[in-house]
Amino acid sequence: MNNYKNLIEKQKTYFQTNITRDVPFRLDALQKLRTSIQLHEKELMDALKSDLNKSDFESYSTEIGVVLEEIRFTLRHLRAWTSPKRVKTPLTHIGSKSYLFSEPYGVALIISPWNYPFQLAFAPLIGAIAAGNCAIIKPSELTPKTSELMAKIINDIFSAEYISVALGGVEVSTALLNEDVDYIFFTGSVPVGKIIMEAAAKNLTPVTLELGGKSPCIVHDDAKIHLAAKRIAWGKYMNAGQTCIAPDYLYLHQNIRDEFLHHLKDAIQELYGVNPLKNENFTHIVSEKHFNRLRSFLTNGSLYTGGNTNQEMLMIEPTVLTNITWKDAIMQDEIFGPILPVIEYNNLNEVINGIRQHPKPLSLYLFSESPTVQEEISHNVSYGGGCINDTVYHFVSPYLPFGGVGNSGIGAYHGKGSFDTFSHGKSVLKQTTLFDLPFRYPNVKNGLKKIKMFLK
Ligand code: NAD
Repeated sequence: MNNYKNLIEKQKTYFQTNITRDVPFRLDALQKLRTSIQLHEKELMDALKSDLNKSDFESYSTEIGVVLEEIRFTLRHLRAWTSPKRVKTPLTHIGSKSYLFSEPYGVALIISPWNYPFQLAFAPLIGAIAAGNCAIIKPSELTPKTSELMAKIINDIFSAEYISVALGGVEVSTALLNEDVDYIFFTGSVPVGKIIMEAAAKNLTPVTLELGGKSPCIVHDDAKIHLAAKRIAWGKYMNAGQTCIAPDYLYLHQNIRDEFLHHLKDAIQELYGVNPLKNENFTHIVSEKHFNRLRSFLTNGSLYTGGNTNQEMLMIEPTVLTNITWKDAIMQDEIFGPILPVIEYNNLNEVINGIRQHPKPLSLYLFSESPTVQEEISHNVSYGGGCINDTVYHFVSPYLPFGGVGNSGIGAYHGKGSFDTFSHGKSVLKQTTLFDLPFRYPNVKNGLKKIKMFLK
């Protein structure tokens, strides 16, 4: 086991030199990162293919391209984000000026999962660098090729005292969590999120927790059915459903049940072919354990389409299950696989009550043309973020900070959200020395009366 105490101390010492706070240094680091990623693009695609059978298209559109775009956006805006912001000063503070400074925390620990192993480690890293921190990434042990390559990409361009990758499993996470870092950014499951928060509490370390959960997708009877079916099939079955913001289950209005399901089946065929198990670009399930858990759900409700599996290849067809209720096993936890259970409804209140009785979701998707229905869901259901008439797409906008609420997470990132997440907002009042207003002092005549003129 590596000596992480030593590594963290080295990073803290390096941070104290103030070099990582220098804005040209940060810009240079981001540019180096971009170049190194571009140089290793083919190797990254090969590693993702080997770990998860991701196609080059998926690897680029959901991992490499997303990270490059995040770097581009950050490089463009970083100078503006880092400049101190002058804010208003109230009358009670007359003579003074007020400022907000964004300052880095120090050493940031980034712990990431396997499902988008590159993007979910490097997107937070961009925020950590942009904000002027040192960082240690602990990637997932379940995607070893990608994790090793990420270590190489980092080691080629950065010294370990600035950015480092700690390879290994739970034991490495645990060892790192035993040390005193300045920020913890965790992406992963809810149970592990609780372990992270407990570890962080020992040193009162601030955290961002990007967790998961069951994200509902509602298809109302006034939805544009054909488009809804295609966008749902895309968001659900990309990466074989192993996406934290994939629609986990469907609430489908009874009036359009048959027509919608028919279109959904067509959309699945259009995207993945008549025999998805033979589609060499369909992502595999990450491990046998995950495969067996998912396969056990296939007997829930009634099989509408899909349901075939290939144990040797760890593949499960895009599957739709109907006649599902909240009592079924598949509805007890996040599915995280290519199986879509469908619950039918008649009245929007059934949907609102059903979702509200469960932990707050990471994402919610609503397909409806009606502004009233859109308003009703948005007003009555709490969730991290989501889309109206689409799935997953909100994730890649740098203007929409991404994160959960309640059980689905704490904090948010992407775009300026990432910079803010890895920065402490320091408020500073710069007071005048030209005069000294007396009313704050206790020895002023009629002090109480005077202070009440200002504080009321
Ligand atoms: P996980 O929680 O099992 O593991 C995530 C990371 O934590 C890994 O690096 C792992 O090594 C480490 N880890 C595991 N157990 C640990 C422990 N006991 N102590 C310390 N560290 C530990 O998650 P996963 O299986 O890799 O990923 C799937 C989960 O992540 C799903 O729940 C999914 O919804 C969630 N997720 C969330 C987002 C998001 O952005 N909100 C994105 C992707 C995945």
